[in-house]
Amino acid sequence: MTDPSVGRYYITTSIPYVNGTPHIGFSLEVIQCDALARFHRLIGHDTRYHTGTDENALTNLQAADKAGEPIQQLVDRNAERFASIREPLNLSTDAFFRTSTDPLHFPGAQKLWRVMNAAGDIYTREYQGLYCVRCERFYKPEELVNDNCPIHEIPPEPVDEVNYFFRLSKYGDKLQELIGSNTLLVQPEHRREEILSFIESGLEDISISRQALRGRGWGVPVPDDPDQVMYVWVDALSNYITALDYANDGPDYQRYWVHNPNRVHVVGKDIIRFHVVYWPAFLLSANLPIPTEIDVHEFLMVDGEKISKSRGNTVDPVEIAALYGLDALRYWLLREMPRTGDGNFSHERLIARYNEDLGNDLGNLVNRSVSMLHRYRGGVVPRVASVTDGESPLARVAEGLGERVGAAFDAFDFRQAIAAIWELVSAANKYIDDTKPWELAKAANKGDDTAADRLDVVLADLIESSRLLAVHLQPFIPDGACKIATQVGFELAPVADDGFASRSWNGALAGRTLPKASPIFPKIEVEADAEAGA
Ligand SMILES: [Zn+2]
Repeated sequence: MTDPSVGRYYITTSIPYVNGTPHIGFSLEVIQCDALARFHRLIGHDTRYHTGTDENALTNLQAADKAGEPIQQLVDRNAERFASIREPLNLSTDAFFRTSTDPLHFPGAQKLWRVMNAAGDIYTREYQGLYCVRCERFYKPEELVNDNCPIHEIPPEPVDEVNYFFRLSKYGDKLQELIGSNTLLVQPEHRREEILSFIESGLEDISISRQALRGRGWGVPVPDDPDQVMYVWVDALSNYITALDYANDGPDYQRYWVHNPNRVHVVGKDIIRFHVVYWPAFLLSANLPIPTEIDVHEFLMVDGEKISKSRGNTVDPVEIAALYGLDALRYWLLREMPRTGDGNFSHERLIARYNEDLGNDLGNLVNRSVSMLHRYRGGVVPRVASVTDGESPLARVAEGLGERVGAAFDAFDFRQAIAAIWELVSAANKYIDDTKPWELAKAANKGDDTAADRLDVVLADLIESSRLLAVHLQPFIPDGACKIATQVGFELAPVADDGFASRSWNGALAGRTLPKASPIFPKIEVEADAEAGA
């Protein structure tokens, strides 16, 4: 019997603080995870996709104090904003986990603490340091920029108190070995190298609690010490297992964490240290399985500047989706975000990319193919030999496409996956130009049977290519892929099969009558929308 765990896949986003509203940078991460989750479901994996919110942080309390509002009320309201982006962004999440309200979280985080403590890895010590409340971390003086936090550009607060510490220093060698051997795969490569050299420079023990007084008791209480609450990282990072019911060693925890070879976190480059060093070290201390893969994305800038509330350049992803369509937003994020160096969002770039790739390349391909099928064959997909015997030049381009897309997903390289799919888009457009179906139709009308047969093959090849494109594009642009599928006469399924939803060239649509062609990706008029974006 094959091991059922082999086909499992668990993926999480990081969980953001809820002291603001979700901006386009966060939508990048949830959409990347969504594409991965949909891809793994498509290839038949038992997939679980989690996101949620980090609600016990001091920074949330400070936001509430500033707004003169009870903390739980602020957290509830803001968490709802994060939860509510799932529908307009068409996210296929299985759970939205809230760390202040979900009954699984506190007992789970406290259980983890107890096990780490029993392993002898927790001790108390006086601590003095400079603390950025927004980052929820301490900075060394030399790490500051103009005496400010380098991320938030606000001065850190001096803190002097007795805290619990975790013996992180004990785990440097083990972590180096696990990351060096890719037992814990860190991608892309430059982030793996960055973290390896950080570990090599020597790990210091870290503070893992704060005085309850400092946050009026807001947070997860340290077991057996009412004066202390957990400092954000033990609390927040543990969400990846508490959400699966680690507290009760529940069936989901067993299924998606213990007996699952694919435990994947997607995080921004600013929190790599906590996910690739602290979190696996906590798990090693507790003798629990560590993540198998941590994928790191860069930051998304807006018009060349870092996104921040104070700069007033936050871009609401739900608004963008409403303005230009969700396909435009999802496609742009997955197609344009570089693996090295920050991405740069602008309305103009999004419009140009959408019009060129989805409007011209893909939309016109499907539209022309279906229009010609109606003009020359009454809308019925011809039954021909070559769509199944691999003679078609398009079938050759499609050969191995599933493997190429899969390899790109495994490498956390969405651009590469889209580039692989676009080889078929480009080849199919070129095929129309090369074979000139309108000339074949003219010759066929004059009694040329060879031309008539050839026209059958060309049209069948084009429809088959469109079918394959719908299946392969589903993880990226689920809405648009669904429209392509409808246009070529079938319905997408979340899991690929051997029929219409096959990931391989198979000519399954032969004999079907297709609906009349209608535009799938209508062009965005640049002038009108450039104004809207100004
Ligand atoms: Zn900061």
